[in-house]
Amino acid sequence: MSSPLALITGAASGIGLAAARRMAGEGWRLLLCDIDAAGLERAAAELGAEAVPLDISDVPAVREAAARLLERHGSVEAVVVCAGISGHGLPFEKVDEAAFDAMLGTHLKGHFFLLQAFAPAMAAAGGGAMVLVSSLFALRGSPNMPHYTAAKGALLGLGRALAVELGPRNIRVNVVAPGLIRTPMTEKSAGYDKDFFTRRETVIPLRRLATPEDVAASIAFLASPAAASLTGQCLSPSGGEAFT
Ligand code: NAP
Repeated sequence: MSSPLALITGAASGIGLAAARRMAGEGWRLLLCDIDAAGLERAAAELGAEAVPLDISDVPAVREAAARLLERHGSVEAVVVCAGISGHGLPFEKVDEAAFDAMLGTHLKGHFFLLQAFAPAMAAAGGGAMVLVSSLFALRGSPNMPHYTAAKGALLGLGRALAVELGPRNIRVNVVAPGLIRTPMTEKSAGYDKDFFTRRETVIPLRRLATPEDVAASIAFLASPAAASLTGQCLSPSGGEAFT
């Protein structure tokens, strides 16, 4: 029997790259998708994976890529949606329509239609797993990034809706809602000064930030047969930050 196949978006960097490395180590074959073509090539070469350069917010391009991949591979056993952009440092009054559309287009709209494109083939192949990377901020809010938090809240809702709708076709849909993770996204975010990460650690119950590898472990678990009875769940790798 051949190894299971997974598609991961945002796979060139940070959490998506860590998930790709973890899943490759667990025997998955991978289709790696990202807007960063150069980073994607590096990740694909490292992991012996197929690179799928794609702007996830471009719905016609998403549909075209999905059709091409389905024609070539038939189906996939898992889809992990992780591509994202930061919205940190933008107060409610400053979010204009372009920033709102970019945020919702990347986190929600593109991933919505990607999952829609893969669901029928997954169901026809007997089922599979979808893992949606949301955020702790979707559970408890955060100032100065309302469009980001709204997009991540919508992903959480989408995950729960799809779990109910697709469950009878043996497609499990779960959400991972990380706390603050040190990645290229947060390293370059406006509003995070150089001591921000160490200050956060002092109020996190485990006294350390969760890492991209910690989040990858949750993603890989939810995609795996070990989570066969889990759907509609939300795991929050955050060092306990959810409770501070
Ligand atoms: P990251 O290192 O910046 O990785 C995100 C990847 O997504 C980048 O390679 C990025 O490319 C790519 N991307 C951006 N827009 C895209 C598009 N339109 N189409 C395809 N790919 C696109 O960030 P990360 O921190 O690992 O974040 C990964 C996911 O975790 C995001 O959804 C984020 O919201 C979520 N998350 C992160 C944290 C955190 O604290 N880091 C916490 C909770 C949730 P570019 O670099 O070229 O933009």
